[in-house]
Amino acid sequence: MRIYIGIDGGGTKTRSVAVTEQGTILADLTTPGSNVNHHGWAGVEESLFVLFNLLRTHVPLGAQVASLCLGFAGIDRESDRVRMEEWAATHWPTANVRVVHDARIALEAGLPVDAELGVGIVLIAGTGSVAYGRNEAGEETRVGGWGYLLGDEGSGYDLGRRAITSVLRAYDGRDPQTALTELVLNAYGVQEPTDLLPLVYGETSSRGHVAQSARLVFDAATAGDLVAQALVEGAADELAALVVALLQKMNVTARRLTVVLAGGLFSTGSPLIGLFEARLPDTVDVRPGQPPVFGALRLAQEGR
Ligand code: BGC
Repeated sequence: MRIYIGIDGGGTKTRSVAVTEQGTILADLTTPGSNVNHHGWAGVEESLFVLFNLLRTHVPLGAQVASLCLGFAGIDRESDRVRMEEWAATHWPTANVRVVHDARIALEAGLPVDAELGVGIVLIAGTGSVAYGRNEAGEETRVGGWGYLLGDEGSGYDLGRRAITSVLRAYDGRDPQTALTELVLNAYGVQEPTDLLPLVYGETSSRGHVAQSARLVFDAATAGDLVAQALVEGAADELAALVVALLQKMNVTARRLTVVLAGGLFSTGSPLIGLFEARLPDTVDVRPGQPPVFGALRLAQEGR
């Protein structure tokens, strides 16, 4: 029996799915994030090592792992991709191991199964954000996704950080009072805005944790809070700007285009989807894709 494994390594979590060649799911695991810009190479290698061993426990006796495809947020340079691929390959010596950027697997997950050249556009708004596309000539283009310090506009981290900043600005009297204050303080389990500081700057804080406050912005915006609504609008502006810049760079010839949406900020019912779509040219539609891990699985199965 041959086994295929797809892995989606994001900023907040890593999802891994293992299937048989008949498509039976043997494992569907969620483990902590594996973006090297958040956790460092040593941290990521350590948690992937644990994950690989866990995955092996799901492989039936006598079965062979034929191929793995791992898509990572934070693997933004070819040299880093090669480094990760070589490292991962040493842990699966008899399998075909491929490492790609997470936008690549998200695009694959969003394409119709029979898509020929894999032409398409994907926008991820998870912990980080990035727009990525492939045109009819097979040329790949990317815009944004330069991490939580240098980019990731409109992402969960960006929105979560802005939510916390709004609480502090309202506390100062620099910005209007906002329902976010109560929501953020409750989520962090603290009484005072200044109590947020050690939790955000402290050693146990993570980018994923900050990104979780993005959902509080959606809740407050939906309940009519003006500060939260402005933050969601700002995120929609930034995400639309990523896609517009991508379209300009891409040289696509198709007259209608679909942007596949991936990442937690686009989960069902997200107020961001409509606002984002309204900012795009009329020739562009949006639709949610399958979770990116299934794109990784598809690449593993097809040996692409
Ligand atoms: C990472 C990118 C990634 C994006 C979306 C960013 O933080 O730097 O590599 O594509 O998040 O996951």
